Amino acid sequence: MSTWETVIGLEVHAELATESKMFSPARNEFGGEPNTNVHPVCLGLPGTLPVVNEKAIELAIRVGLALNCSINRCVFARKNYFYPDMPKDYQISQYDQPLNTDGFVDLPNGTRIRIERAHLEEDTGKSTHIGTSGRIAGADYSLVDYNRAGVPLLEIVSHPDLRSADDARAYVQELRAALVAVGASDGKMEEGSLRVDANVSVRPAGSDELRTRCEIKNVNSLRSLGRAIAYEAKRHIQLYENGERPIQETRHWDEEAGRTQPGRSKEEAEDYRYFDDPDLVAVDPSAEWIEEIRAALPTLPAELRAEWITAGADPELAGTVISRGLGPLVAEATAVGADINKTLNHAANTIDPEELGQLTPDGLAETVKMELDGQLTSTQAKTVLQDLMELGGSAAEIATSRGFEAMDRGELEAMLDQVIADNPDEWTRFCEGEAKLQGFFTGQLMKATRGQADGKVINQLLQAKKNA
Ligand code: MN
Repeated sequence: MSTWETVIGLEVHAELATESKMFSPARNEFGGEPNTNVHPVCLGLPGTLPVVNEKAIELAIRVGLALNCSINRCVFARKNYFYPDMPKDYQISQYDQPLNTDGFVDLPNGTRIRIERAHLEEDTGKSTHIGTSGRIAGADYSLVDYNRAGVPLLEIVSHPDLRSADDARAYVQELRAALVAVGASDGKMEEGSLRVDANVSVRPAGSDELRTRCEIKNVNSLRSLGRAIAYEAKRHIQLYENGERPIQETRHWDEEAGRTQPGRSKEEAEDYRYFDDPDLVAVDPSAEWIEEIRAALPTLPAELRAEWITAGADPELAGTVISRGLGPLVAEATAVGADINKTLNHAANTIDPEELGQLTPDGLAETVKMELDGQLTSTQAKTVLQDLMELGGSAAEIATSRGFEAMDRGELEAMLDQVIADNPDEWTRFCEGEAKLQGFFTGQLMKATRGQADGKVINQLLQAKKNA
Protein backbone atom coordinates (compact mmCIF):
# COMPACT_ATOMS: atom_id res chain seq x y z
CA MET A 1 0.00 0.00 0.00
CA SER A 2 1.44 3.35 -0.99
CA THR A 3 1.35 6.34 1.30
CA TRP A 4 -0.84 9.22 0.28
CA GLU A 5 -0.55 12.94 0.62
CA THR A 6 -3.58 15.22 0.91
CA VAL A 7 -3.65 18.31 -1.29
CA ILE A 8 -5.94 21.13 -0.22
CA GLY A 9 -6.74 24.53 -1.68
CA LEU A 10 -9.24 26.78 0.06
CA GLU A 11 -11.67 29.34 -1.25
CA VAL A 12 -12.72 31.65 1.54
CA HIS A 13 -15.63 34.02 1.01
CA ALA A 14 -15.59 36.92 3.45
CA GLU A 15 -18.49 39.34 3.72
CA LEU A 16 -17.08 42.83 3.96
CA ALA A 17 -18.17 45.00 6.88
CA THR A 18 -19.57 47.91 4.87
CA GLU A 19 -22.66 49.92 5.81
CA SER A 20 -24.32 49.35 2.45
CA LYS A 21 -24.18 46.70 -0.25
CA MET A 22 -21.66 46.23 -3.05
CA PHE A 23 -23.64 47.97 -5.79
CA SER A 24 -26.70 49.45 -4.06
CA PRO A 25 -27.57 51.65 -1.07
CA ALA A 26 -29.46 48.82 0.71
CA ARG A 27 -28.15 48.15 4.22
CA ASN A 28 -25.59 45.41 4.74
CA GLU A 29 -26.69 43.91 8.02
CA PHE A 30 -27.05 40.37 9.36
CA GLY A 31 -30.27 39.08 10.86
CA GLY A 32 -32.95 41.54 9.69
CA GLU A 33 -36.55 40.61 8.87
CA PRO A 34 -36.45 38.77 5.51
CA ASN A 35 -36.54 41.01 2.45
CA THR A 36 -36.25 44.29 4.35
CA ASN A 37 -32.66 45.23 3.38
CA VAL A 38 -33.36 45.35 -0.32
CA HIS A 39 -33.21 47.84 -3.15
CA PRO A 40 -34.18 47.67 -6.85
CA VAL A 41 -30.51 47.11 -7.80
CA CYS A 42 -30.01 44.04 -5.60
CA LEU A 43 -33.43 42.73 -6.66
CA GLY A 44 -32.27 42.92 -10.28
CA LEU A 45 -35.23 45.02 -11.39
CA PRO A 46 -35.10 46.06 -15.05
CA GLY A 47 -33.61 49.48 -15.72
CA THR A 48 -31.53 49.65 -12.55
CA LEU A 49 -27.78 50.21 -12.67
CA PRO A 50 -25.12 49.15 -10.16
CA VAL A 51 -22.79 51.71 -8.53
CA VAL A 52 -19.55 50.49 -6.93
CA ASN A 53 -19.26 50.92 -3.17
CA GLU A 54 -15.95 52.73 -2.61
CA LYS A 55 -15.70 51.49 0.98
CA ALA A 56 -15.85 47.88 -0.24
CA ILE A 57 -12.92 48.56 -2.55
CA GLU A 58 -10.98 50.12 0.31
CA LEU A 59 -11.64 47.17 2.63
CA ALA A 60 -10.68 44.72 -0.11
CA ILE A 61 -7.41 46.61 -0.66
CA ARG A 62 -6.71 46.50 3.08
CA VAL A 63 -7.07 42.72 2.97
CA GLY A 64 -4.98 42.50 -0.19
CA LEU A 65 -2.17 44.41 1.50
CA ALA A 66 -2.47 42.33 4.68
CA LEU A 67 -2.11 39.20 2.53
CA ASN A 68 0.92 40.58 0.71
CA CYS A 69 -0.90 40.79 -2.62
CA SER A 70 -0.34 43.03 -5.61
CA ILE A 71 -3.21 45.49 -5.99
CA ASN A 72 -4.35 45.80 -9.60
CA ARG A 73 -6.63 47.67 -11.91
CA CYS A 74 -9.67 45.42 -11.90
CA VAL A 75 -12.73 44.72 -13.99
CA PHE A 76 -16.13 43.42 -12.91
CA ALA A 77 -17.52 40.51 -14.89
CA ARG A 78 -20.82 38.71 -15.08
CA LYS A 79 -20.77 35.10 -13.94
CA ASN A 80 -23.92 33.64 -15.43
CA TYR A 81 -25.95 30.95 -13.78
CA PHE A 82 -29.54 30.43 -12.88
CA TYR A 83 -30.35 30.26 -9.22
CA PRO A 84 -33.54 31.49 -7.55
CA ASP A 85 -31.65 33.44 -4.88
CA MET A 86 -29.85 35.50 -7.50
CA PRO A 87 -32.54 37.57 -9.20
CA LYS A 88 -30.35 38.96 -12.01
CA ASP A 89 -29.43 35.42 -13.08
CA TYR A 90 -25.81 36.43 -12.92
CA GLN A 91 -23.44 37.28 -10.15
CA ILE A 92 -21.19 40.30 -10.54
CA SER A 93 -17.72 39.02 -9.81
CA GLN A 94 -14.21 39.48 -11.15
CA TYR A 95 -12.72 37.06 -13.60
CA ASP A 96 -9.50 37.58 -15.50
CA GLN A 97 -8.68 40.95 -13.93
CA PRO A 98 -9.10 40.61 -10.16
CA LEU A 99 -8.24 43.33 -7.63
CA ASN A 100 -5.70 41.39 -5.54
CA THR A 101 -3.27 38.77 -6.84
CA ASP A 102 -0.18 36.79 -5.79
CA GLY A 103 -0.06 37.07 -2.02
CA PHE A 104 0.74 34.69 0.78
CA VAL A 105 -0.04 33.76 4.37
CA ASP A 106 2.59 32.30 6.69
CA LEU A 107 1.22 29.72 9.13
CA PRO A 108 2.47 29.73 12.75
CA ASN A 109 4.48 26.57 11.93
CA GLY A 110 6.35 28.48 9.21
CA THR A 111 4.60 26.99 6.16
CA ARG A 112 3.92 29.57 3.47
CA ILE A 113 0.55 29.28 1.73
CA ARG A 114 0.36 31.19 -1.54
CA ILE A 115 -2.72 33.23 -2.34
CA GLU A 116 -3.65 33.14 -6.00
CA ARG A 117 -6.17 35.96 -5.89
CA ALA A 118 -8.65 37.82 -3.70
CA HIS A 119 -11.40 39.24 -5.87
CA LEU A 120 -14.54 41.25 -5.20
CA GLU A 121 -18.03 40.00 -5.92
CA GLU A 122 -21.55 40.16 -4.56
CA ASP A 123 -23.26 37.65 -2.31
CA THR A 124 -26.44 35.85 -3.33
CA GLY A 125 -29.71 35.79 -1.40
CA LYS A 126 -30.61 32.86 0.79
CA SER A 127 -33.07 30.09 -0.06
CA THR A 128 -34.79 27.95 2.52
CA HIS A 129 -36.21 24.73 1.12
CA ILE A 130 -39.29 23.57 2.97
CA GLY A 131 -39.78 19.83 3.14
CA THR A 132 -38.27 16.83 4.83
CA SER A 133 -35.00 16.81 2.89
CA GLY A 134 -34.11 20.48 3.50
CA ARG A 135 -32.62 20.37 -0.01
CA ILE A 136 -34.10 21.79 -3.19
CA ALA A 137 -34.72 18.29 -4.56
CA GLY A 138 -37.90 17.00 -3.02
CA ALA A 139 -38.83 20.29 -1.36
CA ASP A 140 -42.53 21.20 -1.13
CA TYR A 141 -41.71 24.85 -1.72
CA SER A 142 -38.86 27.30 -1.14
CA LEU A 143 -38.58 30.69 0.52
CA VAL A 144 -36.14 33.32 -0.66
CA ASP A 145 -34.64 36.13 1.42
CA TYR A 146 -32.82 38.83 -0.57
CA ASN A 147 -31.30 40.64 2.42
CA ARG A 148 -27.96 39.03 1.64
CA ALA A 149 -28.21 39.56 -2.14
CA GLY A 150 -25.59 42.10 -3.14
CA VAL A 151 -23.59 42.07 0.11
CA PRO A 152 -19.93 42.68 -0.78
CA LEU A 153 -17.83 39.54 -0.74
CA LEU A 154 -14.13 39.04 -1.03
CA GLU A 155 -13.26 35.61 -2.40
CA ILE A 156 -9.79 34.63 -1.29
CA VAL A 157 -8.39 31.74 -3.29
CA SER A 158 -5.30 29.88 -2.12
CA HIS A 159 -3.01 27.73 -4.21
CA PRO A 160 -3.28 24.00 -3.40
CA ASP A 161 -0.43 24.40 -0.89
CA LEU A 162 -2.10 22.94 2.19
CA ARG A 163 -1.25 19.36 3.15
CA SER A 164 -3.34 18.58 6.21
CA ALA A 165 -6.63 19.37 7.90
CA ASP A 166 -4.69 21.02 10.74
CA ASP A 167 -2.88 23.34 8.35
CA ALA A 168 -6.17 24.19 6.64
CA ARG A 169 -7.66 25.19 9.97
CA ALA A 170 -4.57 27.19 10.90
CA TYR A 171 -4.75 28.97 7.54
CA VAL A 172 -8.39 29.97 8.07
CA GLN A 173 -7.54 31.18 11.58
CA GLU A 174 -4.71 33.33 10.23
CA LEU A 175 -6.90 34.67 7.49
CA ARG A 176 -9.73 35.42 9.89
CA ALA A 177 -7.40 37.22 12.31
CA ALA A 178 -6.08 39.38 9.47
CA LEU A 179 -9.59 40.18 8.19
CA VAL A 180 -10.75 41.19 11.66
CA ALA A 181 -7.59 43.16 12.43
CA VAL A 182 -7.87 45.34 9.33
CA GLY A 183 -11.59 45.91 10.01
CA ALA A 184 -12.67 44.23 6.78
CA SER A 185 -14.94 41.59 8.30
CA ASP A 186 -16.34 40.43 11.63
CA GLY A 187 -15.04 36.95 10.75
CA LYS A 188 -18.08 35.16 12.18
CA MET A 189 -18.29 31.72 10.60
CA GLU A 190 -21.48 30.93 12.52
CA GLU A 191 -23.26 33.89 10.89
CA GLY A 192 -21.87 33.08 7.47
CA SER A 193 -19.62 36.16 7.33
CA LEU A 194 -16.79 33.78 6.60
CA ARG A 195 -17.50 30.74 4.45
CA VAL A 196 -14.97 28.16 3.44
CA ASP A 197 -15.01 25.81 0.45
CA ALA A 198 -12.28 23.20 0.41
CA ASN A 199 -10.84 21.66 -2.75
CA VAL A 200 -9.47 18.30 -1.73
CA SER A 201 -7.53 15.66 -3.62
CA VAL A 202 -4.88 13.08 -2.76
CA ARG A 203 -1.75 11.85 -4.52
CA PRO A 204 1.06 9.43 -3.81
CA ALA A 205 3.36 11.07 -1.26
CA GLY A 206 6.29 12.79 -2.90
CA SER A 207 4.59 13.22 -6.27
CA ASP A 208 3.79 16.69 -7.56
CA GLU A 209 0.82 15.78 -9.75
CA LEU A 210 -2.59 17.29 -9.08
CA ARG A 211 -5.31 14.65 -9.22
CA THR A 212 -9.07 15.07 -9.51
CA ARG A 213 -10.37 17.27 -6.74
CA CYS A 214 -13.73 17.59 -5.07
CA GLU A 215 -14.99 20.88 -3.75
CA ILE A 216 -16.57 20.60 -0.32
CA LYS A 217 -19.18 23.21 0.50
CA ASN A 218 -21.34 23.90 3.52
CA VAL A 219 -18.55 23.93 6.07
CA ASN A 220 -19.67 26.19 8.93
CA SER A 221 -16.95 25.90 11.52
CA LEU A 222 -13.25 25.20 11.83
CA ARG A 223 -14.08 21.87 13.42
CA SER A 224 -16.27 20.87 10.46
CA LEU A 225 -13.53 21.98 8.08
CA GLY A 226 -11.04 19.61 9.68
CA ARG A 227 -13.50 16.73 9.77
CA ALA A 228 -14.69 17.28 6.20
CA ILE A 229 -11.15 17.33 4.79
CA ALA A 230 -10.14 14.22 6.70
CA TYR A 231 -13.27 12.39 5.52
CA GLU A 232 -12.85 13.42 1.90
CA ALA A 233 -9.15 12.51 1.74
CA LYS A 234 -9.92 9.07 3.15
CA ARG A 235 -12.70 8.61 0.60
CA HIS A 236 -10.34 9.41 -2.28
CA ILE A 237 -7.65 7.07 -0.96
CA GLN A 238 -10.17 4.24 -0.67
CA LEU A 239 -11.37 4.83 -4.23
CA TYR A 240 -7.81 4.71 -5.62
CA GLU A 241 -6.92 1.65 -3.58
CA ASN A 242 -10.03 -0.12 -4.94
CA GLY A 243 -8.90 0.66 -8.47
CA GLU A 244 -11.53 3.38 -8.89
CA ARG A 245 -11.16 7.13 -9.10
CA PRO A 246 -13.11 10.13 -7.78
CA ILE A 247 -15.01 12.35 -10.20
CA GLN A 248 -14.75 16.12 -10.11
CA GLU A 249 -17.82 17.38 -8.30
CA THR A 250 -19.16 19.64 -5.60
CA ARG A 251 -19.91 17.81 -2.37
CA HIS A 252 -21.77 18.97 0.70
CA TRP A 253 -20.56 18.33 4.22
CA ASP A 254 -23.20 16.72 6.39
CA GLU A 255 -22.19 17.57 9.94
CA GLU A 256 -24.54 15.11 11.63
CA ALA A 257 -23.75 12.15 9.41
CA GLY A 258 -20.04 13.08 9.46
CA ARG A 259 -19.60 12.63 5.71
CA THR A 260 -19.68 14.46 2.39
CA GLN A 261 -22.51 13.92 -0.09
CA PRO A 262 -22.41 14.52 -3.82
CA GLY A 263 -23.92 17.80 -5.04
CA ARG A 264 -23.91 19.09 -8.57
CA SER A 265 -21.09 18.06 -10.87
CA LYS A 266 -18.57 20.85 -10.87
CA GLU A 267 -18.88 23.53 -13.55
CA GLU A 268 -15.82 24.62 -15.46
CA ALA A 269 -15.17 28.32 -15.90
CA GLU A 270 -16.49 28.21 -19.48
CA ASP A 271 -19.90 27.08 -18.24
CA TYR A 272 -20.38 30.45 -16.59
CA ARG A 273 -20.01 32.43 -19.82
CA TYR A 274 -18.07 35.17 -18.11
CA PHE A 275 -17.96 38.56 -19.80
CA ASP A 276 -17.06 42.08 -18.62
CA ASP A 277 -20.09 43.79 -17.10
CA PRO A 278 -21.04 46.63 -19.46
CA ASP A 279 -22.78 48.47 -16.58
CA LEU A 280 -19.56 48.99 -14.64
CA VAL A 281 -16.27 50.70 -15.43
CA ALA A 282 -12.90 49.29 -14.42
CA VAL A 283 -11.60 50.28 -10.99
CA ASP A 284 -8.03 51.51 -11.03
CA PRO A 285 -6.84 52.38 -7.51
CA SER A 286 -4.17 55.07 -7.59
CA ALA A 287 -0.75 54.41 -6.08
CA GLU A 288 -1.38 57.30 -3.65
CA TRP A 289 -4.63 55.77 -2.43
CA ILE A 290 -3.03 52.36 -1.97
CA GLU A 291 -0.17 53.90 0.02
CA GLU A 292 -2.64 55.86 2.14
CA ILE A 293 -4.48 52.64 2.95
CA ARG A 294 -1.22 50.82 3.66
CA ALA A 295 -0.05 53.56 6.03
CA ALA A 296 -3.28 53.31 8.04
CA LEU A 297 -3.11 49.52 8.52
CA PRO A 298 -2.73 48.30 12.12
CA THR A 299 0.08 45.98 13.10
CA LEU A 300 -1.01 42.68 11.63
CA PRO A 301 -1.71 39.64 13.80
CA ALA A 302 1.17 37.61 12.42
CA GLU A 303 3.58 40.49 13.17
CA LEU A 304 2.21 40.87 16.70
CA ARG A 305 2.59 37.17 17.36
CA ALA A 306 6.19 37.23 16.13
CA GLU A 307 6.96 40.25 18.37
CA TRP A 308 5.45 38.56 21.41
CA ILE A 309 7.31 35.31 20.85
CA THR A 310 10.55 37.27 20.56
CA ALA A 311 9.64 38.92 23.87
CA GLY A 312 9.32 35.50 25.52
CA ALA A 313 5.64 34.69 25.04
CA ASP A 314 4.40 31.14 24.87
CA PRO A 315 3.74 30.57 21.11
CA GLU A 316 0.55 28.57 21.62
CA LEU A 317 -0.88 31.18 23.99
CA ALA A 318 0.03 33.93 21.53
CA GLY A 319 -1.72 32.04 18.74
CA THR A 320 -4.88 31.56 20.81
CA VAL A 321 -5.08 35.27 21.61
CA ILE A 322 -4.56 36.25 17.98
CA SER A 323 -7.28 33.90 16.80
CA ARG A 324 -9.63 35.31 19.45
CA GLY A 325 -9.10 38.75 17.90
CA LEU A 326 -7.61 40.22 21.08
CA GLY A 327 -4.21 41.07 19.58
CA PRO A 328 -4.71 44.85 19.56
CA LEU A 329 -5.89 44.93 23.20
CA VAL A 330 -2.89 42.92 24.37
CA ALA A 331 -0.51 44.96 22.22
CA GLU A 332 -1.73 48.19 23.83
CA ALA A 333 -1.65 46.75 27.34
CA THR A 334 1.91 45.53 26.95
CA ALA A 335 2.89 48.87 25.40
CA VAL A 336 2.08 50.47 28.77
CA GLY A 337 4.17 47.90 30.59
CA ALA A 338 1.99 44.84 31.26
CA ASP A 339 3.76 41.49 31.49
CA ILE A 340 3.29 39.66 28.19
CA ASN A 341 2.54 36.13 29.38
CA LYS A 342 0.19 37.17 32.21
CA THR A 343 -1.66 39.47 29.80
CA LEU A 344 -1.89 36.75 27.17
CA ASN A 345 -3.17 34.34 29.78
CA HIS A 346 -6.06 36.62 30.69
CA ALA A 347 -6.74 37.36 27.02
CA ALA A 348 -6.89 33.63 26.31
CA ASN A 349 -8.91 32.57 29.35
CA THR A 350 -10.62 35.42 31.19
CA ILE A 351 -11.55 38.04 28.63
CA ASP A 352 -14.53 37.38 26.39
CA PRO A 353 -13.85 39.05 23.02
CA GLU A 354 -17.62 39.50 22.55
CA GLU A 355 -18.06 41.24 25.91
CA LEU A 356 -15.11 43.63 26.16
CA GLY A 357 -17.48 46.38 27.32
CA GLN A 358 -15.62 49.04 29.30
CA LEU A 359 -12.29 47.22 29.51
CA THR A 360 -9.40 49.40 28.34
CA PRO A 361 -5.77 48.43 27.67
CA ASP A 362 -4.81 50.56 30.73
CA GLY A 363 -7.28 48.71 32.94
CA LEU A 364 -5.92 45.37 31.76
CA ALA A 365 -2.32 46.50 32.29
CA GLU A 366 -3.11 47.78 35.80
CA THR A 367 -4.79 44.50 36.78
CA VAL A 368 -1.89 42.43 35.50
CA LYS A 369 0.58 44.61 37.39
CA MET A 370 -1.36 44.31 40.67
CA GLU A 371 -1.48 40.55 40.22
CA LEU A 372 2.25 40.31 39.61
CA ASP A 373 2.95 42.51 42.63
CA GLY A 374 0.97 40.11 44.78
CA GLN A 375 -1.78 42.68 45.45
CA LEU A 376 -4.31 40.43 43.76
CA THR A 377 -4.53 36.66 43.62
CA SER A 378 -5.18 35.21 40.17
CA THR A 379 -8.81 34.55 41.09
CA GLN A 380 -9.20 38.13 42.30
CA ALA A 381 -7.59 39.45 39.13
CA LYS A 382 -10.19 37.56 37.09
CA THR A 383 -13.00 39.14 39.12
CA VAL A 384 -11.47 42.60 38.67
CA LEU A 385 -11.29 42.05 34.89
CA GLN A 386 -14.94 40.93 34.79
CA ASP A 387 -15.90 44.10 36.67
CA LEU A 388 -13.80 46.24 34.36
CA MET A 389 -15.59 44.77 31.35
CA GLU A 390 -18.99 45.35 32.91
CA LEU A 391 -18.51 48.61 34.77
CA GLY A 392 -15.21 50.18 33.71
CA GLY A 393 -13.16 52.27 36.14
CA SER A 394 -9.77 51.52 37.63
CA ALA A 395 -8.53 48.15 38.82
CA ALA A 396 -7.37 49.60 42.15
CA GLU A 397 -10.82 51.06 42.88
CA ILE A 398 -12.53 47.79 42.06
CA ALA A 399 -10.08 45.85 44.24
CA THR A 400 -10.81 48.20 47.16
CA SER A 401 -14.57 48.13 46.72
CA ARG A 402 -14.52 44.33 46.46
CA GLY A 403 -12.46 44.14 49.65
CA PHE A 404 -9.46 42.68 47.80
CA GLU A 405 -7.09 44.43 50.18
CA ALA A 406 -3.49 43.71 49.55
CA MET A 407 -2.53 40.87 51.82
CA ASP A 408 0.52 42.16 53.62
CA ARG A 409 3.37 39.68 53.70
CA GLY A 410 4.05 40.32 57.37
CA GLU A 411 0.41 39.78 58.21
CA LEU A 412 0.44 36.52 56.28
CA GLU A 413 3.59 35.39 58.07
CA ALA A 414 1.94 36.01 61.45
CA MET A 415 -1.01 33.91 60.33
CA LEU A 416 1.32 31.13 59.24
CA ASP A 417 2.98 31.16 62.66
CA GLN A 418 -0.46 30.73 64.22
CA VAL A 419 -1.30 27.84 61.87
CA ILE A 420 2.02 26.15 62.74
CA ALA A 421 1.36 26.63 66.46
CA ASP A 422 -2.07 25.03 66.05
CA ASN A 423 -0.71 22.05 64.09
CA PRO A 424 2.73 21.22 65.53
CA ASP A 425 2.78 17.52 64.51
CA GLU A 426 1.90 18.27 60.92
CA TRP A 427 4.57 20.96 60.80
CA THR A 428 7.25 18.59 62.09
CA ARG A 429 6.29 16.00 59.49
CA PHE A 430 6.30 18.64 56.76
CA CYS A 431 9.78 19.77 57.81
CA GLU A 432 10.93 16.14 57.79
CA GLY A 433 9.94 15.90 54.15
CA GLU A 434 6.28 14.86 54.01
CA ALA A 435 5.65 16.97 50.92
CA LYS A 436 1.95 16.36 50.66
CA LEU A 437 1.42 18.42 53.82
CA GLN A 438 2.19 21.50 51.73
CA GLY A 439 -1.41 21.32 50.53
CA PHE A 440 -2.65 21.07 54.11
CA PHE A 441 -0.83 24.26 55.17
CA THR A 442 -1.82 26.12 52.05
CA GLY A 443 -5.43 25.17 52.70
CA GLN A 444 -5.25 26.32 56.34
CA LEU A 445 -3.82 29.70 55.30
CA MET A 446 -6.36 30.15 52.53
CA LYS A 447 -9.07 29.43 55.09
CA ALA A 448 -7.59 31.89 57.56
CA THR A 449 -7.39 34.62 54.89
CA ARG A 450 -10.77 33.74 53.32
CA GLY A 451 -8.99 33.00 50.05
CA GLN A 452 -7.28 36.37 49.81
CA ALA A 453 -3.72 35.15 50.00
CA ASP A 454 -1.65 34.53 46.90
CA GLY A 455 -0.79 30.86 46.50
CA LYS A 456 2.68 31.73 45.24
CA VAL A 457 3.44 33.90 48.28
CA ILE A 458 2.21 31.15 50.63
CA ASN A 459 4.50 28.73 48.89
CA GLN A 460 7.47 31.06 49.30
CA LEU A 461 6.70 31.61 52.99
CA LEU A 462 6.34 27.86 53.65
CA GLN A 463 9.66 27.08 52.01
CA ALA A 464 11.41 29.94 53.82
CA LYS A 465 10.01 28.89 57.21
CA LYS A 466 10.87 25.23 56.61
CA ASN A 467 14.46 26.05 55.67
CA ALA A 468 14.89 28.56 58.51
MN1 MN B 1 -17.30 33.20 -5.29
